Amino acid sequence: MINWKILSLNYSSFRRRWLYPLISIVVAIGLCLSTPMPSQAISIWKLLLRGAEVVTPVVQLSNISDRQEISIGKQINKQLLDSKVKLYRDSQVNNYIKQIGQRLVPYSSRPDLTYTFQVVDDDSVNAFATMGGFVYIHTGLIKAAKNEAELASVMAHEIGHIGGKHLVKQMRKRAIASGLVKVAGIEESKLVQIGVELAYQRPNSRRAEYDADRRGLRSLTAAGYAQSGMVSFMEKLMQKSSTMPTFLSTHPATSDRITALKSQINAKPSNRRDGLNEAVYQRMFRSVI
Ligand SMILES: [Zn+2]
Repeated sequence: MINWKILSLNYSSFRRRWLYPLISIVVAIGLCLSTPMPSQAISIWKLLLRGAEVVTPVVQLSNISDRQEISIGKQINKQLLDSKVKLYRDSQVNNYIKQIGQRLVPYSSRPDLTYTFQVVDDDSVNAFATMGGFVYIHTGLIKAAKNEAELASVMAHEIGHIGGKHLVKQMRKRAIASGLVKVAGIEESKLVQIGVELAYQRPNSRRAEYDADRRGLRSLTAAGYAQSGMVSFMEKLMQKSSTMPTFLSTHPATSDRITALKSQINAKPSNRRDGLNEAVYQRMFRSVI
């Protein structure tokens, strides 16, 4: 006679001891096989994170990295080109502008940034910089300058604004004032919008203008251009105060800036005189002038 009771007890104790652990092991193996390999798992996470970045990147205003600055500069550039700015497409003019810009960059405060120099088809005497290496020069400014040293002085001033991160600072102020900053930071797209608005205004404080002048004169001099180019161009523009360009902010009087520049030149004069040949300038920019 079989003792069913014992057997059933034995079976249930077997189940307790072996079956459930066995099921666990099988399930575990199954899970291992169906879970992506570690490398795949990482790439999937990376993709997910990247996806999230594209949708809602948030920027910490107190600490914008170079990478974020470049990314915002590129987006501002795209919006400007899409709506507000018409580029001047002559390749000789663009190459010459790039050449002048690249001559100045190694002597700037941020020589490691990749700079983009673009010529804007606009007769107003103007130049501006945004952030992350983007500099814009109007054809009107090329016409107003009489030689390469004068033009280079304005470009050096604009590169100086990027060196001092002046627009970044202005954007921070504007974002805080308009209540767009949350604890986590501010959405990158909102910063881009502010940057586009500020690009065409006169956002620079008196301090930022003097700072850009100082940085500009330093790189202009180190690149071998005649220091007098910066002074002569500013003097010329002071005479035409009715067409005061944006890059000459109204806050510090131009005459004060000229005085400051002259004293800096007197303190550190240079005997280099590059960029004063007017005939070469006229030839290189003949399609504009
Ligand atoms: Zn300026």
